[in-house]
Amino acid sequence: MNCTTEQQTLLEHYVKKILAAPVYELAVRTPLQPAHALSEMLGNQILLKREDLQPTFSFKIRGAYNKLVQLSDAQKASGVVTASAGNHAQGVALAARELGIDACIVMPCTTPQLKVLGVRSRGADAVLHGESFPFALAYALDLARKTGRTFVSPFDDPDVIAGQGTVAMEILRQHQGPLDAIFVPVGGGGLIAGIAAYVKYLRPEVRIIGVESEHSACLHAALQAGERVVLPSVGTFADGVAVAQVGAYGFEVCRFCVDEVVTVSNDELCAAIKNIYDDTRSITEPSGALAVAGIKNYVARTGAVGQTLVAIDSGANINFDSLGYVAERAALSGALA
Ligand SMILES: *Cc1c(COP(=O)(O)O)cnc(C)c1O
Repeated sequence: MNCTTEQQTLLEHYVKKILAAPVYELAVRTPLQPAHALSEMLGNQILLKREDLQPTFSFKIRGAYNKLVQLSDAQKASGVVTASAGNHAQGVALAARELGIDACIVMPCTTPQLKVLGVRSRGADAVLHGESFPFALAYALDLARKTGRTFVSPFDDPDVIAGQGTVAMEILRQHQGPLDAIFVPVGGGGLIAGIAAYVKYLRPEVRIIGVESEHSACLHAALQAGERVVLPSVGTFADGVAVAQVGAYGFEVCRFCVDEVVTVSNDELCAAIKNIYDDTRSITEPSGALAVAGIKNYVARTGAVGQTLVAIDSGANINFDSLGYVAERAALSGALA
């Protein structure tokens, strides 16, 4: 990768923020675990970064805590407001409780019930508004203006991006041998921006591959257009990544640090949830299985063999009663499983 001096400075700025992020006051260092059956099936070594094992069952606690802990005393006293599809919401709720900050969280009406309960059980005020994330976002921004609370973006914020980037810091420490690519699920692009900035600064030969749902492929659209575009509509099966426009801060990094973006279907996600279950005996939510679905798609398309590929297993917040649907689709797409 040939970076301009300006780009190199941007990456260095993020690397410093990532190294200084105090996320372990609340987040845990998660395992980087070999997926034996998947590795065998695909002829490549597949490693899963188990972010589903975080206290809120997704990596979002990292960025949320890193953002909230760095607010000024005055901002902490006035409280925060955020919009989230549900996982950032739980991260903010837990971080806010830990830091004694009052939190108001706006989520779309379509948010799975267990994510809403996850927010309320952590003492935050949950407001349900709009049919998908973009509507909840507009409402939350308006609330911030009217109430003087600080708006905390789920992805479009340097401190949030740096918090998510600590995932990459762990991966490079946990796996010091050859590493071909890291597959990262993409919603608003905060996670992939943090990971890409850290990895491209230290190990530029490692490929960063974004994976999006074909129903919310906003990074793919932005990279093709050369600018951030707004998708006319988004599908919400992979509710954690149902975002219509990639964040500005994240795109600034992604436009030169992301090597490729793969898009996958809902059926590929269901099959990947089963693959992860077979290897780990744990269940991921649809967004959490994006990276594994992306690896399968990539290996089938490129014929890659003998490579070491990391998938971020990003979250486990799925309603128990949707498992029937997932199992049914995974069985139907048996050829893919
Ligand atoms: C938020 C989220 C993502 C995507 O992260 P972005 O920073 O929005 O790109 C992926 N998986 C899960 C489970 C998430 O909650």
